[in-house]
Amino acid sequence: MGKGILVFAEQEEGKVRKVTFEILSEAKKIADKKGEQLCAVCLGKDIAGLGDKFAPYGADKVYLVDHETLGQYTSDAYAKALTDLIIKEQPSIVLFGATINGKDLSAKVAARVSAGLASDCTEMKLDDSGNFCVRRPIYAGKVLADVGFQNTDIIMASIRPNVLIASEPDTSKTAEIESIIPEISADNIKVKVLEVVKASAGKVDLTEAEIIVSGGRGMKGPENYKMLDELAEVIGATVGASRAAVDAGWKDISDQVGQTGKVVSPNLYIACGISGAIQHYAGMGTSKVIVAINKDEEAPIFSKCDYGVVDDLFRIIPPLTEELKKMMAD
Ligand SMILES: Cc1cc2nc3c(=O)[nH]c(=O)nc-3n(C[C@H](O)[C@H](O)[C@H](O)COP(=O)(O)OP(=O)(O)OC[C@H]3O[C@@H](n4cnc5c(N)ncnc54)[C@H](O)[C@@H]3O)c2cc1C
Repeated sequence: MGKGILVFAEQEEGKVRKVTFEILSEAKKIADKKGEQLCAVCLGKDIAGLGDKFAPYGADKVYLVDHETLGQYTSDAYAKALTDLIIKEQPSIVLFGATINGKDLSAKVAARVSAGLASDCTEMKLDDSGNFCVRRPIYAGKVLADVGFQNTDIIMASIRPNVLIASEPDTSKTAEIESIIPEISADNIKVKVLEVVKASAGKVDLTEAEIIVSGGRGMKGPENYKMLDELAEVIGATVGASRAAVDAGWKDISDQVGQTGKVVSPNLYIACGISGAIQHYAGMGTSKVIVAINKDEEAPIFSKCDYGVVDDLFRIIPPLTEELKKMMAD
């Protein structure tokens, strides 16, 4: 038995992020091929109830790291607790979701344990020689780099949400659960979170959304996003925006998709009145199906989409919403 693959099981307010199950499912195949144990590590406060969430997706062992200071994510407390566990258990591979917290934590922990880290990956596998490797978009998604690792005892990677497929959970599976009380002292914490203000309560986070309807400068003004909200409501989507729309003050920065916004990989991305600049594409280019609605047939988005509608979005979206509403009702 090798040293094992460890997956950082990200949770927020007691709810495990979907990307955790996606990574566990794919990591299970790799662990089986390598003959290694698959472990999940969940950090938080009062998280005993989460212990049985990971075995159905392949975890053989679950570490529950429970501490007062882990209730709210801070890189200081999380990095201390996770670094200590990694030093003790010496896994061969540590995987994170490429979420905001996952990217922050993986970088800090990789530096502390001198691990090689590839961030924001879209694939992971064993190559023909059985070495772990990943694929990651670079240069704003223009190039895909296949990355291997060398001269590192621990390999680390963060994987984008929604690019791997979670297996059907097998609820008959159980895992060994080890509860850990980490040694975190006040000296370890340099930042105190005073308040968390949620920009969009109740909505599926853009990075985890399976369908996204995004609006750009072509929406003409904030009042017209109501049209996208209605479409999103009908098809269960989350509404995103281009930077032009955010810079204009029409949408919140937390809704921005792109190089300087969120990186998303939904099953369906509907770009409305978005030209398709490379910086926007960098954030949504790995979407499984891209649909563009744009009145300019020369817009770059049409060279990147799977389906394109060359027309005025104000003419297309309201009847589309009505038709979809009827279809959904049937
Ligand atoms: C360092 C850097 C980082 C950046 N990061 C990001 C980022 O994270 N995300 C991002 O989005 N951008 C980012 N940008 C900006 C990016 O370059 C583009 O300026 C931006 O994406 C353009 O947004 P847009 O497509 O909404 O607007 P535009 O490029 O102005 O396109 C608007 C589109 O709407 C169409 N349109 C207009 N009216 C209608 C209508 N009635 N019906 C249908 N179509 C219509 C037009 O034909 C046009 O194609 C970044 C730029 C830089 C330099």
